[in-house]
Amino acid sequence: MPAKKKRFLITSALPYANGPIHLGHMTEYVQTDIYVRYLRSAGHTVTFVCADDTHGTPVELAAAKQGVTPEAFIAQVWADHRRDLADFGISLDVFHTTNSPENRHYSELIYGRLKDAGDILRRPVRQTYCEVDRRFLPDRFVRGTCPNCKSKDQYGDVCEVCGKAYRPEELIDPRCQICGTPPVTRESEHLFFALSRHQGFLAELVRSPGFLPPASANQLQAFFDQGLQDWDISRDAPYFGFAIPGEKDKYFSVWLDAPIGYIAATEKWAKDTGKARSALDLWAEDADAEIRHFIGKDILYFHALFWPAVLKVARFKRPSRLHVHGHLTLNGEKMSKSRGTLISARTALDAFDPTYLRYFYAANLGPGPEDFDLSLPEFRARVNGELVNNVGNLANRTLSLLTGPLGGTLATSPGSAGRALLEAALARIPEVVAAYEALDFRSVVRTTVEVSQSANQFLQSRAPWTRLRTEPEVARADLSDVADVVALLATFLSPIVPAVTERLFAQLGTPPLTFEALAEAAIPLLPRSRALGVPSPLLPRLEETQVNRLVPPAPASPAAAAAPSGGGSGSAAEIDIETFAQVDLRVGKVLAAERVPKADKLLKLTIDLGEPSPRTVVSGIAEAYTPEALVGRSVVLVANLKARKLRGIESRGMVLAAGEGGTALRLVEPGDLPPGTPVK
Ligand SMILES: [Zn+2]
Ligand SMILES: [Zn+2]
Repeated sequence: MPAKKKRFLITSALPYANGPIHLGHMTEYVQTDIYVRYLRSAGHTVTFVCADDTHGTPVELAAAKQGVTPEAFIAQVWADHRRDLADFGISLDVFHTTNSPENRHYSELIYGRLKDAGDILRRPVRQTYCEVDRRFLPDRFVRGTCPNCKSKDQYGDVCEVCGKAYRPEELIDPRCQICGTPPVTRESEHLFFALSRHQGFLAELVRSPGFLPPASANQLQAFFDQGLQDWDISRDAPYFGFAIPGEKDKYFSVWLDAPIGYIAATEKWAKDTGKARSALDLWAEDADAEIRHFIGKDILYFHALFWPAVLKVARFKRPSRLHVHGHLTLNGEKMSKSRGTLISARTALDAFDPTYLRYFYAANLGPGPEDFDLSLPEFRARVNGELVNNVGNLANRTLSLLTGPLGGTLATSPGSAGRALLEAALARIPEVVAAYEALDFRSVVRTTVEVSQSANQFLQSRAPWTRLRTEPEVARADLSDVADVVALLATFLSPIVPAVTERLFAQLGTPPLTFEALAEAAIPLLPRSRALGVPSPLLPRLEETQVNRLVPPAPASPAAAAAPSGGGSGSAAEIDIETFAQVDLRVGKVLAAERVPKADKLLKLTIDLGEPSPRTVVSGIAEAYTPEALVGRSVVLVANLKARKLRGIESRGMVLAAGEGGTALRLVEPGDLPPGTPVK
């Protein structure tokens, strides 16, 4: 029986509008987008909203530094953010801004309800004030010497050297960050939301089943043990934000109006699309939508405590779940602006197809808030080994043989050999569905790669390319069954790498298969009467030079420069052009590869040279390449080398590689030219 269809409102955390989106942020947008695409594919109705978080002192000062108004500044940032998100394939229904009439409306409405409920309190606050700039200074705008370890130039809230938290007036020799003069302390009346009154409700909420990952609920326990603090929701003028109705020179703190931006973005979407009467269709207390927020663990306190309490008092619908993710590190280190490792989304977009990162994020994201590392060598190895070589080549190899030698016609019924493969593949559907539901994307990737491997092994053992002439119908049946498995793999991966799977479905000659359809999957998975599309490689390999563009080059080491270059020293005797022309060099495509037993250096390759049947070539590259890494690759072959036997296998040709040998060998790569193309 198909699962009940639901209505979801899904959010990603609002990026702050004082700088570009970086790869840490992008982890969350990709994670949310994968989940949203899965839900849509499963037949649910989803509204996916986000917005720029625009208010507060940092934006105001960044604008002043550029000599523009805050409005002009955030308009530029908004355009950049929007473009980055779109280019990463983030399928938002709306990307709004908190500096909008919709957000003002809901901020005032919610504040009014908090006040009517008696949950707004007034209290004096002592705060640092700059008499030159005539403004109160946020903690981050005061710097001085740490009172604990005496490190110089530390922020007003916490020392980055010893980690000690303190109040800005405790700093030794404090300075205003804007003008450099010592600030004074002044008292001002602030408005607070009475969070402490809701401790019982919140303690129950964070332990309610499914609301938070257990690790995150545990993380909040310390706050309950200490007792929740009331939350300051006001700021003094001058401030870039919304004035608080009925108050003089008071503004809503960015922390109040930022989450209300989720509601305002929903309102904007409702107005623009007409798909809802207003945001209240999804946010009213009795709305039938399920609200889920995706957040980083750094804003857990705010989303798990402050926000649900505000929604409860203001009689809005509360989130049913918070998906908390960990932070991204780069090559094992925290990403940092000063080290040049805070990589912007645009830098990555300029370097390579964002599909690669979407895949790598998914391959590492689990259901809990653990950090994960963008190790650049591992990034390349996984993307090339799994997505490009394993899945991509399976698809390309199968479809090339079906559309080329077999004329593009599929076998009408499953072959006897392929049935077990197909049954085993379809049996993995429930576990992939469960992994998506649990946000366990790394399990989705693992299962997908395993199914792909089993299909590659099936091809290897059946070797349909050897039957193209002798038993074409057997080859057709085997390849058609593998094409069905490829369609299944494309569906599994469609939320993760949609740009690639769309191309793949076009090559398979079918509209994208959905998870809703998979709920009733049977053999054959797709109609066999359809016409296949034109096969082409799905995604090129990710090259080292591309990945290296993410990080600034390390300064050149004099030792490396002085090292011998290695090339040129062992030149061979000269030959004339006629002698060289006797060597018949051709492009070949590796159809299959396997190790030669008891020979560490040798691989047995099956290579398509555009001839009636593929050739067997034994090559001494096993220390540099795994068999899986070779399948689907183009190589340059010496085609007229006299056949010889190696370990009892007749080898017809030689694969060209550069390097000293062993693990240092690198294949000579001819690019995407078809098999048989002469190399001159
Ligand atoms: Zn310190
Ligand atoms: Zn100042």
